Amino acid sequence: MTERLEGAPVASAILAGLSGRLNAGITQKRWPAPTLVSVQVSATSPFSVYLRNQARIAAQVGIQFETTVLSPDVTATSLARRLAALEEDETVDAVLLEHPLPGHLDYEGAVSHLSAEKDVDGVSPLNLGLLFAGRPIQVPAVARAAIAIVRHYAVPLAGARVAVVGRSASVGLPLARLLLGRGADADATVVIAHSRTPDLASALSGSDVIFSCAGQPHLLTRENVPKDCTIVDIGLSAVPDPTRPSGVRSVGDADAASLDGWAARVTPVPGGVGPVTVAELMGNVVWAWESRRAGSTP
Ligand code: NAP
Repeated sequence: MTERLEGAPVASAILAGLSGRLNAGITQKRWPAPTLVSVQVSATSPFSVYLRNQARIAAQVGIQFETTVLSPDVTATSLARRLAALEEDETVDAVLLEHPLPGHLDYEGAVSHLSAEKDVDGVSPLNLGLLFAGRPIQVPAVARAAIAIVRHYAVPLAGARVAVVGRSASVGLPLARLLLGRGADADATVVIAHSRTPDLASALSGSDVIFSCAGQPHLLTRENVPKDCTIVDIGLSAVPDPTRPSGVRSVGDADAASLDGWAARVTPVPGGVGPVTVAELMGNVVWAWESRRAGSTP
C-alpha cells in the first residue's frame, strides 16, 4: 500500500502555531495585525487559485491581506517605484510580488527593491544569496513546505539519499540547499536532476526520498523511481479534463497509477504540498512582522 501524505494536517499544525504567535503579539504586546500586500501585474493570473488561497488563509489566521493590481503594461520603473514605496511604508510588514510577470518585466530586478525581511517569497537575489551563504532571512515557502511534510510524517532526512528533480532558482535550488544544511531536517546526501540529466532512472536510483519540482505530468513512474521510496510531489500542471467545468485539472509530476503499490509514500496533487506552501508563506509573514515589531518596540 502506498501511503498518501496529505498536506491538510501539516498545514493545520503550522497555522495553529502561527495563531498562537499572532495572538501573543496582538493581544499581549498590542502590535497591529500584520499586513501582507500582494502585488499583481494584471488581475488575471494562471495561479489565481493560489492567490485566492493566500487571501483565504491570511484572513483565517488574522493577517491583513491587501492586493495591489497593476496594469499588464506597467513599466519597470513604475513597478520599481511601487515596490520601493511599499518597502518604505511602515504599516506594511510583508510584500509578495506575484509571478510570472509579463515578459517585458524582470522579476529579480523588481523584487530587489524590497528588503530581505519584507520579501516573503524569499526569491530575491539577496535572499537566495543569504540562504546559500548559510544565513537565511526569508526562505521560499515551497521549499520549507516540502521539508515540513516529511518532518510531519516522520520520514528521516538526516543521512538519507535524496534526489531533487528540478534546479530552478525559486524551487529546486533552495530546496536542495536546505536539504544540504546541518541538522535533523537536513544532513541529506543530495542528487539534483534536471531536463539535461540523460538517464533519470539512474540519477534517482538508490534514493530514499525524491522531491520532484519539474512541472512534468507523468514524469515519475515505477520505471524510474526505486521501490519503497517516498515522493514529495511539488510539480503542479494543468491538464485537459472535459469532465470538469473548468476543462482542466491539476496534476503533479508523479504518475499516481503507476506508483500505487510501488512507492512507500506519495504526496497527492492537489492536496499535498500546495496547502502547506500557503501555510509556510504565512509563517514568513508572521516572522517578518515579529522581527519588525520587536525591533521597533521601546
Ligand atoms: P521551472 O522554473 O520551469 O523549473 C522546472 C525544473 O524542472 C527545471 O530545472 C527543469 O530543468 C526541470 N525539468 C523539466 N523537465 C524535466 C524532466 N523531463 N526531467 C528532469 N527535470 C526536468 O519551474 P519551477 O518554478 O521550479 O516550478 C516547478 C514546479 O513546481 C511547477 O510545476 C510549479 O507549478 C510547481 N510549484 C508548486 C508549488 C506548490 O506550492 N505546490 C509552488 C511553486 C512551484 P532545466 O533547468 O534543465 O530546464
